[in-house]
Amino acid sequence: MPLHTRTLLEAKAMLAQGETTPTALTAACLARIAATEPVLNACITVLEETAMQRAAQLEAQGNPNNLPLWGIPVTVKDLLCTKDAPTTCASAMLAGFMAPYDAFVVERLREAGAVIVAKTNLDEFAMGSGTESSAHGPTCNPWDAQRVPGGSSGGSAAGLAAGQAFGSLGSDTGGSIRQPAALCGCVGFKPTYGYVSRYGAVAYASSFDQIGPMARTVADCATLFGVIAGYDGRDATSAQLPAPDVAPALATKSLQGKTFGVVKELWEGGLSDEVAAACQSAVEAAKAQGAKVVEISLPHLQYAVATYYVLASAEASTNLARFDGVRYGLRAQGEHDLVGMYTASRSQGFGEEVKRRILLGTHVLSSGYYDAYFQKAAKVRRLLLQDFQAALGQCDALIAPVSPVTAWKKGEHVNDPLTLYKMDMLTLGLNLAGLPGVSLPAGLGAASGLPVGVQLMGRAFDDIALLGMANALEMALPRLGVPTGIPA
Ligand code: GLN
Repeated sequence: MPLHTRTLLEAKAMLAQGETTPTALTAACLARIAATEPVLNACITVLEETAMQRAAQLEAQGNPNNLPLWGIPVTVKDLLCTKDAPTTCASAMLAGFMAPYDAFVVERLREAGAVIVAKTNLDEFAMGSGTESSAHGPTCNPWDAQRVPGGSSGGSAAGLAAGQAFGSLGSDTGGSIRQPAALCGCVGFKPTYGYVSRYGAVAYASSFDQIGPMARTVADCATLFGVIAGYDGRDATSAQLPAPDVAPALATKSLQGKTFGVVKELWEGGLSDEVAAACQSAVEAAKAQGAKVVEISLPHLQYAVATYYVLASAEASTNLARFDGVRYGLRAQGEHDLVGMYTASRSQGFGEEVKRRILLGTHVLSSGYYDAYFQKAAKVRRLLLQDFQAALGQCDALIAPVSPVTAWKKGEHVNDPLTLYKMDMLTLGLNLAGLPGVSLPAGLGAASGLPVGVQLMGRAFDDIALLGMANALEMALPRLGVPTGIPA
């Protein structure tokens, strides 16, 4: 069995038993990157040299302190600041930007002994659902290179499915961890808002953004979560909680005594037949594992897409104001006055989707429209949170599809942003409520043969219980096998 197809926990066990080494694992992932990148374009920066040096250093030191990720190759989405590699957010605005510090989660990965092998591709500033709006060019889906990998953390998901690394960190503002994981056939976990520090993550919509792990199994995701979670004083919204013990999640093997809520609104309308069928079998699998299933309604969910795009765009327009060619970002040449320089820099630096969101956000925040849009959306957000709280009072987790369809063809929706926004309908409600959610492969679609994801959503800061339920459910779901669109 080739090294790159192992899970993170298998690789860790092999390291502990001396069956492999940090340099062998790192070389295997780098070789895999070299073999698959011509098809995938999942990485913006590959760290061949620093990764091999770091692996050799870890190998020489051994692992006397039992570091949880000692010698494990991982990737991180290219909106997480790293001192030793550019952080571009897939934008011309930040081409070549070297952050003076590491993001909190990157610090944690390094302290845990991980080897960062690449920084992965994304939609520009994490705005999108297909990794098509990247200044670095689109990423392809490893199951079919004509198709999108999902987004915005599409590079992380495609790379994991292709064996480029054993784990990755992404960010989920409206679904960007769970949806690409679903479309590429891997596992993605969006923690409760505040459980993982956002320090050093370039902001898109600060009250939604959450960093989280992606991997090939739930147990691998839980292991990464145990490394990156916990209090950080440099993020004002960081919860005062220690890093959680993930052992109970790994030990949960049954759903006996658990109740799953099937959210009516998330199963009605818009789902393709194959997605509905695969997710329905996941519900049956949950029952077979002992779960009781009840139907639940979230009445305000119908407003989630509109609410999200008002609020997230508003926050984005504010956050992206710093990229003006003076404080941060590309500076246009040849302009002779300040306003001309700002205008030219922002026109040249940002892509179309980012500009669309800045315009929308500025509009909903402008004095004539603030009450009508921004304030109204903030109120609906609260009502939706109350819906989720009431629902999760009646069950232990909610179960739903992640994306209404399997991976679509590249270019199919690029001129139709509203269709793409509506595709987020199944994921972004959870971000409005700040709750945790995990997406895992439900099987391959009967018509397309492409991965379908199912998600579990849980109570605030009950992330370990949620991961435990996902771990038990995963055992009852079919294995997807090897992606068909890349070199073996
Ligand atoms: N697709 C959603 C958007 O475009 C979510 C993106 C994300 O989670 N970063 O805003």
